[in-house]
Amino acid sequence: MATALPRSRTLTTPADLIAAGLSAPSRARALEAVAERYALAVPPALAALIDPNDPADPIARQFLPDSRELDRGPAELDDPIGDAPKTALPGLVHRYRDRVLLKLVSVCAVYCRFCFRRETVGPGTAGLDEAGLARALDYIAARPEIWEVVLTGGDPLALSPRRLAKVTRELAAIPHVKVLRWHTRMPVAAPERVGPALARALTEGHGKTVYVALHANHPRELTAEARAACRRLIEHGVAMVSQSVLLRGVNDDAATLEALMRAFVEMRVKPYYLHHADLAPGTAHLRTSIVEGQSLMRELRRRLSGLALPAYMLDIPARGKVPIGPAYIGMGVDGAYQLEDPAGETVAYVDRAGGWPP
Ligand code: SF4
Repeated sequence: MATALPRSRTLTTPADLIAAGLSAPSRARALEAVAERYALAVPPALAALIDPNDPADPIARQFLPDSRELDRGPAELDDPIGDAPKTALPGLVHRYRDRVLLKLVSVCAVYCRFCFRRETVGPGTAGLDEAGLARALDYIAARPEIWEVVLTGGDPLALSPRRLAKVTRELAAIPHVKVLRWHTRMPVAAPERVGPALARALTEGHGKTVYVALHANHPRELTAEARAACRRLIEHGVAMVSQSVLLRGVNDDAATLEALMRAFVEMRVKPYYLHHADLAPGTAHLRTSIVEGQSLMRELRRRLSGLALPAYMLDIPARGKVPIGPAYIGMGVDGAYQLEDPAGETVAYVDRAGGWPP
């Protein structure tokens, strides 16, 4: 399809989307209303994946504004996972004893329509300045129980390799911090940014273990360029895990999830979490039920090896994450457990720990 605006730069306004042929001109006002409320950016790598002739395109559904985003449900929350009550200092969330979140920036290469931090991310929002970073580093250094620092945002890989190297060096100088984990969508959103300089910035000159958690939701996001970006990270010594969000009309079918998880494993990215969609404002049209999610996980367990299976997780508002099944074990009769076998049949199992009853 010929377009007036080449998709060679990030599209940040409804007019850009229309000029690029990704949205109909008749939708201009509706798109403007959403874009006034929530940040919009579609970088070239993702714009190129959208089929404008497919009204159900799973890439468009994740990144193009939708009028339903302005319908806020009664249970939806500005801060659905409860970062605020666990924020110890600006940019630093301490929810679990042995790890902290360090939010370096509030910008992203792409703004996902279902983002759980959609009220706080966007262009022009402040990231952590030098003084704020210094206070966060002091906080971490003063607490020997902090074993892992999760670098998030926004997308922390939006920073330059020079800034990333500086943050890495400063964290690596804290002896009790053993693991640095970067959460990012950059390898799929702007793979060209994930070059050797960025990979070196995360890994070189320190002995810490570095993980990158890649956020991707549909196998089409894992293009040759995205795979090459991940390969560059891995070849520099990064270990990778995946994070996906279960989204209606994007990946809420077993075949799509199976293809996504297999692709991750083939890329040396261990499937880690499949998140139940959070109660972010204006995202009901993208949210599945937990029963649907459990049914999909049951089907994935039939199809995939344990290596390719993520855990299905719910972030309980202001409480933290828990796996939400499905469960394969329950109590049966006479003290036996009732188990579901891989074929889906129910079987009794008596726990024999400590020997046999007389
Ligand atoms: S990349 Fe992450 S933080 Fe940024 S908009 Fe998407 S989900 Fe939100």
